[in-house]
Amino acid sequence: MVFKDKLFGLKRDELEKLVLELGCPQFYGRQIAEWLYKSNIRTIDEMTNLSKSARALLNDKYDLGIYNPENVQTSADGTKKYLFPAHQGMFVETAYIPEVNRATVCISSQIGCKMGCRFCMTGQQGFQGQLTAGEILNQLRSLPEKDTITNVVYMGMGEPFDNLINVLDSLEILTADWGFGMSSKRITVSTIGIIPGMKEFLEKSKCHLAVSLHSPFEEERKDLMPVGKMYPLHQILDTIRSFNLGRQRRISFEYILFKDLNDTVSHVKELARLLNGIHCRINLIRYHPIPGISLQPSDDVTIIKFENALKSKGIRTTLRASRGQDIFAACGLLSTKELLRQNQRE
Ligand code: SF4
Repeated sequence: MVFKDKLFGLKRDELEKLVLELGCPQFYGRQIAEWLYKSNIRTIDEMTNLSKSARALLNDKYDLGIYNPENVQTSADGTKKYLFPAHQGMFVETAYIPEVNRATVCISSQIGCKMGCRFCMTGQQGFQGQLTAGEILNQLRSLPEKDTITNVVYMGMGEPFDNLINVLDSLEILTADWGFGMSSKRITVSTIGIIPGMKEFLEKSKCHLAVSLHSPFEEERKDLMPVGKMYPLHQILDTIRSFNLGRQRRISFEYILFKDLNDTVSHVKELARLLNGIHCRINLIRYHPIPGISLQPSDDVTIIKFENALKSKGIRTTLRASRGQDIFAACGLLSTKELLRQNQRE
């Protein structure tokens, strides 16, 4: 089989360069971008404002690079978890989360993950590869519910800033007027705190940032998230403080509550001390127990006490509704299962 490069996922300037190389007019680049990111075409031949010969040249060298999901699981609460094909026969997960006034798609940025967080199924799966900008965006473009999507979060499989170039390219395509034209206020990128990537993201993009915090104590945080050894929490917070982010751009901290581990009064006190002066919000998250991992979720009474204690310290705090628990929507279980199934077949 002849391997062809993909058009989907290229930026306007890359498409302009490409059409010039094919001997076509430069403005075809913008027209192709609009076909790719603003329409629902499934073939190059549907780009009807390009000449027939240009379409033939494109077909010769390129694939569109748009793929339907291969599997879906639907939760009792309406959350859906899709399995999208990626290169080399791998899969990534995408969650569709409908709510009363909005619908969010949670997309993956890598196949698996290198970061090895103790509480995460994807972390247990290990790293299999980077997603291209096209593979990242195809999770939105080929989502059956695409036209209902109001918000995009990069909180699926992988650490976005460990795939920085492709993630930044995908954000440019999502927000550009020649691309999906989404407001950056509708997009949140989540990181466990890769400081160099975080800096570049804060400089180059206007999208919101979510940082996985999970414990205000460095040693405890390192135990949950080994990356803390390289990028300690105080340096992450200093980096955020060094940017003048204004009120338009939201900084949130994700905090999964684990029973008898990070849900005590001393955690609340230390969080309040550390976050003092940062205009932010803490999102508390109920832990979904994962097979083979000993961590347990905090009970409801403790969670509510923790939430109220943070609020009483003046910290804006929300308790995220648990969505898709029955289909493991918060971790890489579906793709891990698919990987294991394939390995068994081989
Ligand atoms: Fe990777 Fe995120 Fe899982 Fe950590 S929580 S292992 S960064 S996918």
